[in-house]
Amino acid sequence: MTQMKQATDNNDLAPAGGRHATRKIIVVTDLDGSLLDHYSYSAEPALATIRKLQNRRIPLIFNTSKTLAECEALSETLGLSDPFIVENGSATYYPKRRFRTAPQGATSHGVYWQVVAGMRHEDIQTRLAPLKADYRMVTLSDCSLGDICAATGLSMTAARRAQNRQFSEPLIWQDSDEALVKFQQALVGLGLTTLRGGRFLHVLGDVDKGKALLAIQAVYRQTYHEVVAIALGDGDNDIAMLEAADFPVLIRSPAHKLPTLACTRPVTISEEAGPAGWAASIRQLLKTI
Ligand SMILES: [Mg+2]
Repeated sequence: MTQMKQATDNNDLAPAGGRHATRKIIVVTDLDGSLLDHYSYSAEPALATIRKLQNRRIPLIFNTSKTLAECEALSETLGLSDPFIVENGSATYYPKRRFRTAPQGATSHGVYWQVVAGMRHEDIQTRLAPLKADYRMVTLSDCSLGDICAATGLSMTAARRAQNRQFSEPLIWQDSDEALVKFQQALVGLGLTTLRGGRFLHVLGDVDKGKALLAIQAVYRQTYHEVVAIALGDGDNDIAMLEAADFPVLIRSPAHKLPTLACTRPVTISEEAGPAGWAASIRQLLKTI
C-alpha cells in the first residue's frame, strides 16, 4: 500500500491530457569527474545536495558514458529512482515506477522504459573489426578484466560492469594524433563517431549527450509547461550536453583543462573540482533560478 502510494506520488508523467502549468527543473549530470570524484569515484561531498534535490522533487538524471548496469548500481547506492542516459546518449532508461506511461518511442526493458538512439554494440564491433589491424589501439572488449582494473583503478566488479557495453566500444588509443584523425575519418564512412571520455575514446553511433538531454527534456515537457535543464560536466564528451542546457555548469578537473564551450548562455564554472564543486554549483544555481 505504501509502495503504491509512493508510485502514484512520484509519477513523473501525468495521465493523458494532464499537463501541469508548472515549471520543472531537471538536473542532468556527467558522472566521472563531475558527480563522482575523478580518482576515488566517490560522490560523498555531493550527498547533502542530492538529498536537497530529492526534497525539492528535482530529478537527478545521469548522462554518462557508463553502462546500464553501472548506472543502475549507482542509482541504487544513491537512493535515486530517476531516469538515466547511458553510453554517451545512446539510450535512455525511464523507471516504470516513476513513468507509468511509456515515453514516445520507448520499449519495455524490465523495470524500465528504454529509448534507444544509438547503434548496437555487435554492429559497432563488426564495423570496427577491419580497422583494428591498421592502428595501435586496444578495445575494452579485447581487454581482460585485469587489464581494465590496471588501466582504470576500478574494482573487478566495477570493471565487469564497464565492459558490459550495449551501444559503444571504449578503446585505449596508443597510436599518434595523426593516426587518430585518419581513424576518425574512416569511422565516419561507417556511420560511427568518437567521443573522448575521461579515460577512453568511445566509438559509437551518431549520438551525443546533447541530443539525449533535449530528448529527455521533451519527455518532461509533455507533463510540465516549462522544463529548465541544469547540466554539469567536466570533459569534451560533455560539450554537446552543456551547450544544449539552459544552465551549463563546467566542473573543474584535477586531471585536465576545462573544455571550451560555444555557448550564448551564462556558464557557471565550479570553484572546486569534482563532487564538491558540483554540489556548490547546484546550491548556488538553485538560489537564483
Ligand atoms: Mg567526466
